[in-house]
Amino acid sequence: MATTKTSGKGTTKKAPSKGKIEDTEFHEFFVDELKDIYWAEKHLAKALPKLQKAATSNELAAAFEKHTLETEGHIAVLEDVFDLLEEKASAKKCDAMAGLLEEADGIISDTDKGTMIRDAGLILAAQKVEHYEIATYGTLRVFAENMGRQDIADLLAQTLENEKATDVALTKIAVGAINTQAAEE
Ligand code: FE
Ligand code: FE
Repeated sequence: MATTKTSGKGTTKKAPSKGKIEDTEFHEFFVDELKDIYWAEKHLAKALPKLQKAATSNELAAAFEKHTLETEGHIAVLEDVFDLLEEKASAKKCDAMAGLLEEADGIISDTDKGTMIRDAGLILAAQKVEHYEIATYGTLRVFAENMGRQDIADLLAQTLENEKATDVALTKIAVGAINTQAAEE
Protein backbone atom coordinates (compact mmCIF):
# COMPACT_ATOMS: atom_id res chain seq x y z
CA MET A 1 0.00 0.00 0.00
CA ALA A 2 1.25 3.50 -0.75
CA THR A 3 2.14 5.74 2.14
CA THR A 4 1.35 9.39 2.36
CA LYS A 5 3.35 12.07 4.05
CA THR A 6 1.53 14.66 6.09
CA SER A 7 3.91 17.53 5.47
CA GLY A 8 6.67 15.98 7.54
CA LYS A 9 4.70 15.83 10.77
CA GLY A 10 6.00 12.63 12.25
CA THR A 11 6.10 9.20 10.71
CA THR A 12 4.19 7.10 13.22
CA LYS A 13 0.91 5.76 11.98
CA LYS A 14 -2.06 6.94 13.98
CA ALA A 15 -4.96 4.70 14.87
CA PRO A 16 -7.92 5.13 12.53
CA SER A 17 -10.37 7.70 13.79
CA LYS A 18 -14.07 6.95 13.55
CA GLY A 19 -15.61 10.38 13.30
CA LYS A 20 -14.24 13.53 11.82
CA ILE A 21 -10.67 13.24 10.64
CA GLU A 22 -8.37 15.44 12.67
CA ASP A 23 -7.53 18.78 11.19
CA THR A 24 -4.32 17.98 9.44
CA GLU A 25 -2.95 19.62 6.35
CA PHE A 26 -3.51 16.34 4.59
CA HIS A 27 -7.18 16.31 5.55
CA GLU A 28 -7.51 19.80 4.10
CA PHE A 29 -5.73 18.69 0.95
CA PHE A 30 -8.00 15.66 0.63
CA VAL A 31 -11.15 17.77 1.02
CA ASP A 32 -9.80 20.20 -1.56
CA GLU A 33 -9.34 17.39 -4.06
CA LEU A 34 -12.88 16.17 -3.31
CA LYS A 35 -14.15 19.65 -4.17
CA ASP A 36 -12.26 19.47 -7.44
CA ILE A 37 -13.77 16.14 -8.54
CA TYR A 38 -17.18 17.31 -7.26
CA TRP A 39 -16.98 20.25 -9.68
CA ALA A 40 -15.80 17.90 -12.42
CA GLU A 41 -18.69 15.46 -11.94
CA LYS A 42 -21.28 18.22 -11.80
CA HIS A 43 -20.09 19.74 -15.06
CA LEU A 44 -19.80 16.35 -16.69
CA ALA A 45 -23.41 15.58 -15.76
CA LYS A 46 -24.41 18.70 -17.68
CA ALA A 47 -22.15 17.96 -20.66
CA LEU A 48 -23.08 14.30 -21.22
CA PRO A 49 -26.60 15.01 -22.54
CA LYS A 50 -24.98 17.30 -25.13
CA LEU A 51 -22.70 14.45 -26.20
CA GLN A 52 -25.73 12.16 -26.31
CA LYS A 53 -27.52 14.58 -28.64
CA ALA A 54 -24.47 14.95 -30.84
CA ALA A 55 -23.86 11.21 -31.24
CA THR A 56 -24.58 9.53 -34.55
CA SER A 57 -25.20 5.96 -33.44
CA ASN A 58 -27.98 4.97 -31.07
CA GLU A 59 -25.57 2.72 -29.23
CA LEU A 60 -23.26 5.59 -28.32
CA ALA A 61 -26.18 7.88 -27.48
CA ALA A 62 -27.51 5.19 -25.12
CA ALA A 63 -24.08 4.83 -23.48
CA PHE A 64 -23.98 8.58 -22.81
CA GLU A 65 -27.51 8.51 -21.44
CA LYS A 66 -26.59 5.66 -19.09
CA HIS A 67 -23.48 7.42 -17.89
CA THR A 68 -25.38 10.65 -17.25
CA LEU A 69 -27.45 8.79 -14.65
CA GLU A 70 -24.35 7.11 -13.25
CA THR A 71 -22.59 10.46 -13.03
CA GLU A 72 -25.50 11.82 -11.00
CA GLY A 73 -24.87 8.85 -8.71
CA HIS A 74 -21.20 9.81 -8.45
CA ILE A 75 -22.23 13.30 -7.37
CA ALA A 76 -24.46 11.79 -4.66
CA VAL A 77 -21.61 9.54 -3.47
CA LEU A 78 -19.32 12.56 -3.14
CA GLU A 79 -22.02 14.33 -1.11
CA ASP A 80 -22.08 11.30 1.19
CA VAL A 81 -18.30 11.50 1.51
CA PHE A 82 -18.48 15.20 2.45
CA ASP A 83 -21.12 14.26 5.04
CA LEU A 84 -18.94 11.51 6.49
CA LEU A 85 -16.13 14.02 6.82
CA GLU A 86 -18.51 16.55 8.36
CA GLU A 87 -17.59 18.96 5.63
CA LYS A 88 -19.89 21.08 3.50
CA ALA A 89 -20.18 19.79 -0.07
CA SER A 90 -18.77 22.51 -2.27
CA ALA A 91 -17.29 22.59 -5.74
CA LYS A 92 -14.00 24.08 -6.79
CA LYS A 93 -13.26 24.58 -10.46
CA CYS A 94 -11.41 21.65 -11.97
CA ASP A 95 -9.29 23.04 -14.80
CA ALA A 96 -8.61 19.57 -16.17
CA MET A 97 -12.29 18.67 -16.59
CA ALA A 98 -13.04 22.15 -17.96
CA GLY A 99 -10.36 21.54 -20.60
CA LEU A 100 -11.55 18.04 -21.43
CA LEU A 101 -15.12 19.25 -21.88
CA GLU A 102 -13.89 22.10 -24.07
CA GLU A 103 -12.13 19.51 -26.17
CA ALA A 104 -15.37 17.52 -26.49
CA ASP A 105 -17.12 20.69 -27.68
CA GLY A 106 -14.34 21.17 -30.21
CA ILE A 107 -14.90 17.66 -31.56
CA ILE A 108 -18.58 18.41 -32.05
CA SER A 109 -17.83 21.59 -33.97
CA ASP A 110 -15.04 20.00 -36.01
CA THR A 111 -17.02 16.95 -37.18
CA ASP A 112 -20.17 16.61 -39.27
CA LYS A 113 -23.45 15.56 -37.74
CA GLY A 114 -24.51 12.03 -38.70
CA THR A 115 -20.99 10.73 -39.34
CA MET A 116 -19.09 7.95 -37.65
CA ILE A 117 -16.07 10.21 -37.44
CA ARG A 118 -18.19 12.28 -35.05
CA ASP A 119 -18.80 9.20 -32.90
CA ALA A 120 -15.16 8.12 -32.99
CA GLY A 121 -14.23 11.61 -31.82
CA LEU A 122 -16.87 11.66 -29.09
CA ILE A 123 -15.60 8.32 -27.78
CA LEU A 124 -12.06 9.67 -27.75
CA ALA A 125 -13.19 12.71 -25.76
CA ALA A 126 -15.29 10.62 -23.37
CA GLN A 127 -12.49 8.13 -22.73
CA LYS A 128 -10.12 10.96 -21.86
CA VAL A 129 -12.70 12.06 -19.30
CA GLU A 130 -13.10 8.53 -17.89
CA HIS A 131 -9.35 8.11 -17.59
CA TYR A 132 -9.10 11.38 -15.72
CA GLU A 133 -11.80 10.17 -13.33
CA ILE A 134 -10.14 6.77 -12.94
CA ALA A 135 -6.86 8.46 -11.99
CA THR A 136 -8.61 10.74 -9.54
CA TYR A 137 -10.75 8.13 -7.77
CA GLY A 138 -7.89 5.63 -7.72
CA THR A 139 -5.72 8.11 -5.88
CA LEU A 140 -8.43 9.46 -3.56
CA ARG A 141 -9.37 5.94 -2.54
CA VAL A 142 -5.80 5.23 -1.47
CA PHE A 143 -5.66 8.57 0.35
CA ALA A 144 -8.80 7.62 2.28
CA GLU A 145 -7.30 4.27 3.20
CA ASN A 146 -4.14 5.98 4.40
CA MET A 147 -6.27 8.22 6.58
CA GLY A 148 -7.84 5.15 8.16
CA ARG A 149 -11.20 5.84 6.50
CA GLN A 150 -12.11 2.54 4.92
CA ASP A 151 -15.76 3.65 4.82
CA ILE A 152 -14.85 6.50 2.48
CA ALA A 153 -12.37 4.38 0.54
CA ASP A 154 -15.14 1.85 -0.16
CA LEU A 155 -17.49 4.54 -1.47
CA LEU A 156 -14.82 5.95 -3.76
CA ALA A 157 -13.94 2.44 -4.94
CA GLN A 158 -17.53 1.91 -6.10
CA THR A 159 -17.35 4.99 -8.30
CA LEU A 160 -13.91 3.94 -9.51
CA GLU A 161 -15.29 0.58 -10.68
CA ASN A 162 -18.13 2.30 -12.52
CA GLU A 163 -15.71 4.65 -14.32
CA LYS A 164 -13.61 1.65 -15.36
CA ALA A 165 -16.69 -0.19 -16.63
CA THR A 166 -17.71 2.88 -18.62
CA ASP A 167 -14.29 3.06 -20.22
CA VAL A 168 -14.51 -0.63 -21.19
CA ALA A 169 -18.02 -0.14 -22.60
CA LEU A 170 -16.83 2.80 -24.73
CA THR A 171 -13.93 0.73 -26.06
CA LYS A 172 -16.35 -2.02 -27.04
CA ILE A 173 -18.54 0.42 -28.94
CA ALA A 174 -15.51 1.92 -30.69
CA VAL A 175 -13.93 -1.34 -31.80
CA GLY A 176 -17.29 -2.94 -32.52
CA ALA A 177 -18.10 -0.83 -35.55
CA ILE A 178 -17.51 2.86 -35.23
CA ASN A 179 -13.76 2.95 -35.80
CA THR A 180 -13.92 0.85 -38.97
CA GLN A 181 -16.84 2.82 -40.36
CA ALA A 182 -15.17 6.10 -39.47
CA ALA A 183 -11.99 5.03 -41.29
CA GLU A 184 -14.07 4.40 -44.41
CA GLU A 185 -15.75 7.80 -44.40
FE1 FE B 1 -17.88 10.05 -12.61
FE1 FE C 1 -17.38 8.93 -15.65
